[in-house]
Amino acid sequence: MNKLDDFSYHSVLVLGLAKSGTVAAKLLARSGKKVRVNDFKTKQNDPVVQELENANIEVIVGNHPLNVLDGIEIVVKNPGIPYENIVIAEAEKLGIPIITEVELAGLLVQSPIVGITGSNGKTTTSTLIYEMIRHSGQEVQLAGNIGNVATEVAENLKKDEVMVMELSSFQLLGIEKFKPNISVLLNLFEAHLDYHKTFEHYSHAKANIFRNQTKDDYLVYNADDDDVSELVQFAHATKVPFSTKKQTSGAWCDDDNLYFMSEKIIELRKIALVGKHNLENILAAVSAAKLQGATIEGITQVLTTFTGVKHRLQFVDSIDDRLFYNDSKATNILATSKALAAFNQPTILLAGGLDRGNDFDELIPYLSNVKAMVLFGETAPKLEKTAQMAGINSIHFVDNVKHAVQSAYNISEKDDVILLSPACASWDQYRTFEERGDMFMNAVHTLK
Ligand code: ADP
Repeated sequence: MNKLDDFSYHSVLVLGLAKSGTVAAKLLARSGKKVRVNDFKTKQNDPVVQELENANIEVIVGNHPLNVLDGIEIVVKNPGIPYENIVIAEAEKLGIPIITEVELAGLLVQSPIVGITGSNGKTTTSTLIYEMIRHSGQEVQLAGNIGNVATEVAENLKKDEVMVMELSSFQLLGIEKFKPNISVLLNLFEAHLDYHKTFEHYSHAKANIFRNQTKDDYLVYNADDDDVSELVQFAHATKVPFSTKKQTSGAWCDDDNLYFMSEKIIELRKIALVGKHNLENILAAVSAAKLQGATIEGITQVLTTFTGVKHRLQFVDSIDDRLFYNDSKATNILATSKALAAFNQPTILLAGGLDRGNDFDELIPYLSNVKAMVLFGETAPKLEKTAQMAGINSIHFVDNVKHAVQSAYNISEKDDVILLSPACASWDQYRTFEERGDMFMNAVHTLK
């Protein structure tokens, strides 16, 4: 097990439990630190309270008394907790440093770290990089959204084992020394402004991924994104650009092939993952994987077989020459428009869900290949209007995603794409977008 040797603070407050807080608290206690945990939502009778107390951790739940900061030298904050939180605001006033568990993970790891951030595409790119390194015969672990908690992975990481980390802007705000050996900055869209307040603040958080890098480290960045290109001007790392539009000194493509530097990696037609946005993710992934020593064979194997992370424009199956795609993660118009732009063939779109009060007119330019829409959820009537404005005549209403699959199949023809890309959150009918996507996939499989 790797040890937390370089962490000089002794008395630590872990604010916010969830999984990462629990893991961090236990790690700190095992490392001989004096640990206090404070969580607002957890109840006193929750088994985790006893579990932590048994590990010699002081636990305060149910409220945020300011005296939780008494004697504290550093706060490990759950990334989801805003800086307006009264304990955090007070800690800032008192000059107590505030980090996230990513910082702890960085201190535990001696082997190479590949870190990925950006507004969109993090999970897909992180997964691609992980798979490319793994298929090249190197030992590698994945931490982040779909992997495990970073500190947990970091503690058990073997010498020379690579750690691929998906990093959100929330996590990156709380770092001091953390640095990836290879960092990837995918894109910057206006996102999470409820948390970050301004675009500058948000970009600044993302820039933390390369803040501590030196010229011996690499920064892979999107040269097609003006905000990204501007931001990386301040980086000290060796910069490796990627572009879908022009030749670069990193990864790029022409009409037929994908290259890294001057080396041909793969013919574009052999890539299994669809969508222009995914081509950007692929270029980023190829760059990072190559810099980490991945082989062309390993990279090619992944690119010819990887059909998407679950629920993200994921190819599910071909049944009677109808192609089924699950993009349940598309909970807004932007995501659904990206999905629609990925296809040239006639498409049946399955959409609808929680009504956030917006209309769907912005989808209209992307509906030119859509021959029919199957609608469900609160927003079905609004989407019907959008479909009519786009000149779509075949509009069908169903009560859930399962029936949507059957309905779409009944009206489909050979070579159609049947795409679940709801443009809405799932919470009117489902607990999560995963539950919605699973219902879609099960319904597709039962068609066989
Ligand atoms: P994240 O982990 O950053 O949320 P994902 O890989 O889970 O990203 O992809 C989520 C959605 O974001 C996808 O379904 C797609 O709609 C969109 N997306 C993915 N990659 C990109 C990209 N490079 N540019 C723009 N949008 C993207």
